[in-house]
Amino acid sequence: MSRSVAFIGLGHMGAPMAANLVKAGHRVRGYDLVVTPGAGLEPAASARDAVADVDVVISMLPAGRHVLGLYDDILGAARPGTLFVDCSTIDVADARTAHDRAVTAGMRALDAPVSGGVVGAEAATLTFMAGGGGAEFAEARPLLEAMGKKAVHCGGPGAGQAAKICNNMILGVSMIVVSEAFVLGESLGLSHQALYDVASTASGQCWALSVNCPVPGPVPASPANRDYRPGFAASLMAKDLGLAANAARAGGVNAELGMRAAELYAAYAERAGAAEDFSGIVRAIRDRSGE
Ligand code: NAD
Repeated sequence: MSRSVAFIGLGHMGAPMAANLVKAGHRVRGYDLVVTPGAGLEPAASARDAVADVDVVISMLPAGRHVLGLYDDILGAARPGTLFVDCSTIDVADARTAHDRAVTAGMRALDAPVSGGVVGAEAATLTFMAGGGGAEFAEARPLLEAMGKKAVHCGGPGAGQAAKICNNMILGVSMIVVSEAFVLGESLGLSHQALYDVASTASGQCWALSVNCPVPGPVPASPANRDYRPGFAASLMAKDLGLAANAARAGGVNAELGMRAAELYAAYAERAGAAEDFSGIVRAIRDRSGE
């Protein structure tokens, strides 16, 4: 069924996601503070103009403050009952606040952050993690599937954001320890290939090692083989770990490694690595070793 959609936030992720909705036959009105809507999108004069008279509003913005600011601006301009789907990666608490504000204004809401990066946004192979009601998820599903290959309903409001930051906390910590293991191996005279051959088929196996291997050689497609061009930028990993650390602090959770990973990625992204793939942290670990 063709839907009318307002898509707010046409950056690296939003532009290709909106284009895939158009490709799937939906009518999409686009708005961004900076970016001009691409081919096939109806331009809107403002965010309020974009959301008037549509079935679904999708947003893809940098952070929670942008989403809450947008919702404050547009909730009064949409038709009652409009479904608001926020795909940005934001704080769990902000996602719940956005949901509450939408419902209070007579709308329906879902948080649906993604993994898969710009490549996944362009190829429509993203994974969506959704939080909100079952009926809202069922309604959003055909749109999510036009932009991705998988959509998982994770629970109530904020559950999509929770799943995203928990997953990325596993990923951030595992990338650091895989990198530390390679640098330790180097100091012990162990070749990268030998460590890879053992660990990738033994109990050390994980995505950070066997798909996104942080040293060049063992996995030809990993970013380490192209001077750490992303992939998944270290700045985004730092952001997601920061959100996980906030949530852990707020909930009194003793996530020592997750907290430490957030500090290490923040420092790495601030110094050299913001635009590098997050596996480039192996170089920072190597540089600091032997000091
Ligand atoms: P981006 O900075 O490229 O795009 C964000 C866009 O939002 C910008 O074009 C900006 O002008 C626009 N914007 C900001 N406030 C606005 C407002 N009030 N109204 C209209 N437009 C507004 O960021 P991105 O890489 O597309 O990422 C978007 C979100 O997706 C972030 O939350 C990010 O964490 C998440 N994400 C990104 C990736 C990735 O690989 N880039 C992967 C997964 C998740």
